[in-house]
Order: sequence, then structure tokens, then C-alpha cells
Amino acid sequence: RPRILSGMQPTHDSLHLGNYLGAQVNWVKMQEEFDALFCVVDLHALTVVPDPEQLRIRTRLTAAQYFAGGIDPERSTVFVQSQVPEHAQLAWVLNCFTGFGEASRMTQFKDKSGKRGAEGTNVGLFTYPILMAADILLYDAQKVPVGEDQRQHLELTRDLAQRMNARYGDLFVVPEPHIPADSAKIMSLQEPTAKMSKSADDQRGNLMMLDEPKANSKKIKSAVTDLDNAVRWDPENKPGIANLLRIHHAFSGESIDALVERYAGENKYGALKTDVVDLFRSVQEPFKDKVDTYMADPAQLDEILARGAQRAREIAAPTLSRVYDAVGFIQTR
Ligand code: ATP
Ligand code: MG
Repeated sequence: RPRILSGMQPTHDSLHLGNYLGAQVNWVKMQEEFDALFCVVDLHALTVVPDPEQLRIRTRLTAAQYFAGGIDPERSTVFVQSQVPEHAQLAWVLNCFTGFGEASRMTQFKDKSGKRGAEGTNVGLFTYPILMAADILLYDAQKVPVGEDQRQHLELTRDLAQRMNARYGDLFVVPEPHIPADSAKIMSLQEPTAKMSKSADDQRGNLMMLDEPKANSKKIKSAVTDLDNAVRWDPENKPGIANLLRIHHAFSGESIDALVERYAGENKYGALKTDVVDLFRSVQEPFKDKVDTYMADPAQLDEILARGAQRAREIAAPTLSRVYDAVGFIQTR
């Protein structure tokens, strides 16, 4: 079976709806067809310098949410990035093959460092896309299911793979992004031109999978829309309404055209919002219950993750040794 790899950062207790619809729903579909690896990328999360105990909890919570959302640990390999040391080892090598200017062009770094300011920005945040390239290339992944926001990072991964292959012969599989068109980007409810993001300043824009349903209903009801009060599909001029229609479509499976017809006419924003509240709640409630079940037995969760790390290392170690040999490191025997 062809292989895929993807991951999420444990930078928050809860995933948001963008993580769920933009990434996880595809993962669950793809695990049937692919040899799938899903990683909780705690090395990446260290770029926000979290409290240690909080990082441990969030790492487990993120894994529990993978399982609650339908990732099957018998079928897929689920593991924690820091338990597979090859990630950091390969990242160093790739660092040395990435141009400083090339890395400086990453728009996510510009966004995030702009928000954090010079004081709050560490070098880890800058080299983040290179570590992400290592995450992917270690496993010879053919496809990487991610949201639209990761397209540029995937492009860098491909460039690095091609560059290394040109220099050293066929070291890496050149991966393709897998970004399904209709679920690709969920926007903030408060600022519908920016994506929902765990690290957003304004958390009122995020629908969190583990929040109380009441809190989420409130957020949906107060989602920013516009004043013309007619439901139309116009992402350019009506980004808030487009976002609600996309969310509705993702949960209900109804076409955007059918939805626009249903909510056409004056003063239908309220009806659209109420229906989105109900749709979201019906997914969120069972999801939360499953997470609680996994979190009630952390020892068992850690055990599943340890097995995943072992399986991941079996793939990652030969790749790293191939690379170490190619660049001229003396191999231990
Ligand atoms: P952060 O703000 O800390 O970077 P994030 O919200 O971007 O957090 P990540 O853990 O970086 O979350 O991303 C996990 C996955 O979720 C990635 O595949 C990413 O493309 C996807 N994703 C993140 N935000 C969205 C969104 N708003 N819409 C669709 N997919 C998203
Ligand atoms: Mg992100």
C-alpha cells in the first residue's frame, strides 16, 4: 500500500474545526487505502515553549482526539514525534541543505513571527518547515494530507527531496500534497479572511472540539457575517457566510447550491447559524465522550503510542542511515 504521513501540533488542549474538517476527516478516509502514519508533532509544539506538564497533557489529548475522530490504531501507526529521534537527526542534515533566503520566504513564519515579535520568536519557529520536511521524508511518504495552509511547506519538502536526490542519487520519495478542494480551509468565525488557528490571538473565532457545546453555540451565533442579510455564495465579498456554508456542507453533505436555495431570502442568517449549531453539536458530543474515555486510561494510551513509535522507527531508521551514509558520516556497525 502507498504510504501517507500527517500530524498536528499539541499546542492546545483541543483541536479546532479546521483541524478536524481540513485534516482529520481526510485522514480517516485515507487510512483505508494507504499505509498511514499519524504523528503528534510535539517537537514542533516546543516552538511555543509550553509548560512541561501542559505539553504532556496536550500530547495525550491530541492522540486521544485522533482516535476519537476515527483513526484506528490497529490499522494506522499513531506515534509521538519526540519518541522517534530520527526526526531531529534528519532535520539537522536538511537544515544544511536549505538556503537561508529560501527558508525566509515561508509566509507562515512571517505571519507567526510578526505576531510574536522579535522577543517571542525563536530559531525553532524559523526552521519548523525543515523539521516538517524531515517528518515526511523519513517515511518515504507519497502523499501528505494537509490543509491548504501547508501547501508552501510541502513545496519546500519537495524541493529538498529533489535537491538531495540530484546530489546523492535516489535518497527520497518526492511527496505530493493531498488537499481536497472542498474541505481545504475553515476560516475564523471572527475574522473570516484568516484561517481558524490554534495560535490565533482571538480564540472566539475558533470552534474547539473539546469545548462545552454551549460555548460553541454562542461562537457560531455571534460569527461575523455582513450587513446585506441575504445568503449567497460569494466568498470574496461574503467570506463569513461562505465559511458557514462550507461548514454546513462538510457536515450535512448537502451541496452549496442546495443550501443557498434553502436559505435564500431576507433574514436567513439566523436560520443558517442555528442549523450549523445543531450539525456541529451532533458531531462534537460523541467526539468529546470518546476523548474522555481515552484520557481516563493514560497508561493504555501511552502503551498504544509506544507501539506506534516502535513501528515508526522501523521505517525511519533505515532512511536516516541511508542519508547519513550518503552525506559522508561514518556508520556504526
Ligand atoms: P497553529 O496555529 O499552532 O499552527 P494550526 O491551527 O495551524 O495550529 P496545526 O497543528 O499546525 O494547527 O495543523 C494541523 C493540520 O490542520 C494541518 O494539516 C493543517 O493544514 C490543518 N489546518 C490547520 N488549520 C486549518 C484550517 N483553518 N482549515 C483547514 N485545515 C487546517
Ligand atoms: Mg499550523
